[in-house]
Amino acid sequence: MAKRKTAKNPVATLIDGTELEYLPEIIGEGSEGIVHFTADRLSIIKFYKDEADLKDPERKDRIDHIVNKYNPTRDKISGDYWSNLYCWPAGLVVSPKLGVKVPVYPAKFFTSDGIEKKLSWFVNPKTRNFVPAAERGTWLGHLKMAITMARSTRRLHSAGLAHSDLSYNNFLGDPVSGSTVMIDVDGLVVPGLHPPKIAGTPGLIAPEVLMGTAEPSIRTDLHALAVLIYQTLLFRHPLKGPRINSTSSAEEDEQLSLGEKALFIENPTDHSNRPAKLVTGYECMGPYLSEVIPQSFVHALHSPDNRPTALDWESALVRTADLIHPCSNEKCEMKWFVLSKAMDYCCPFCKQKIALPFVPILHCYREQPGKPGNFLNEKHRLVVWHGMYIYKWHVFDNIWAGENVDKTPQGYFVYHENNWYLYNMEMDLKVIENGYPKPVPKGQHVRLSEGLQLRLSSESHGRLILTQFLRI
Ligand SMILES: [Zn+2]
Repeated sequence: MAKRKTAKNPVATLIDGTELEYLPEIIGEGSEGIVHFTADRLSIIKFYKDEADLKDPERKDRIDHIVNKYNPTRDKISGDYWSNLYCWPAGLVVSPKLGVKVPVYPAKFFTSDGIEKKLSWFVNPKTRNFVPAAERGTWLGHLKMAITMARSTRRLHSAGLAHSDLSYNNFLGDPVSGSTVMIDVDGLVVPGLHPPKIAGTPGLIAPEVLMGTAEPSIRTDLHALAVLIYQTLLFRHPLKGPRINSTSSAEEDEQLSLGEKALFIENPTDHSNRPAKLVTGYECMGPYLSEVIPQSFVHALHSPDNRPTALDWESALVRTADLIHPCSNEKCEMKWFVLSKAMDYCCPFCKQKIALPFVPILHCYREQPGKPGNFLNEKHRLVVWHGMYIYKWHVFDNIWAGENVDKTPQGYFVYHENNWYLYNMEMDLKVIENGYPKPVPKGQHVRLSEGLQLRLSSESHGRLILTQFLRI
């Protein structure tokens, strides 16, 4: 049991009897609780307001389950990784009131003035313009933020937990490092206990919840996640278009437009909600996201069981990261985009066409199990750019770029005097010439040419890649 250092600060007691000094100043207050720093300022304590406790007698059990039973940050293998993606409650406070002890947010999620960087700042073009340029990051940072949002949601869902209020305010974001942290995790929907009475955040509530026909669940989280990702990547709301569904009041119109009458602004057959100034469709996000976006907002908008899972989103986003290219316009605000024929190889944000004469596209093949030397086209490509690294999840077809992956670079690409080269760092790399493998030792490089075949590793699951040049 911790000893009290002074008698000046008030003391809270955790359920295991640990005493914790906290500072008397209130640093935040929401509808649910009042927030104080602990004396060491490494954590905060949120005390619930009495009124909410009376309404929700299961709150204590729920928090106990969240802190102890379902805590991913205590995972032996990947706990440290998850500690970066969540501010996960670390203790249940029982005295002087019911509350929860939570680590403070990492410094990168605060401005120099000490203000929390909510995701809402970055996904809305108007508010984004108020953020200092040095803190806005690039589109690559946005793609990475979308990945961490999908990943942290996927981890919750795989344990059977629903967040119940995924929102612009419950993710803090840092587009510079490309990371998010999920906060306010103490409101999770825990299996076997009643869901908390959370109204949700306007704009992110699933249509069926707005219509009063469903409670917050994993399926409703998937609607909120889809909206958050769409907005993070495209800077617009997928359902807020020009169509008016009620002239009686703005509230009723919004209730219908996001609920019973919700219609994707890019619906391919019904254009009645399509903004006049919408020039660039979601297709600019490449083939993988062009599957999950319409799946979410056309096919499953009113059919919750068919929504893409958080893993579907994560997988599409991670694969999309292999298709990006730097914009050739030095003044481009977004700096990165998905290189796509649908956009005629132009940046969708500044419309600049890529300035290189040719870009290597590497087609991935995996060896058929039990059939050495037989390779199957994986229908996956890598778009190469100058300075790009490849990792083990590129070299091997059975390594997934998830939370436990080895991030040691295996090789990198260089564009020099009209030639592209692959430098081998850690691979058992071989060039296939006339059917015979010729080693490229570590520290050496190989010039890429049209039709060049490379075996990235001759170990089991090592990929074969076929080089093609995209001539622009
Ligand atoms: Zn651009």
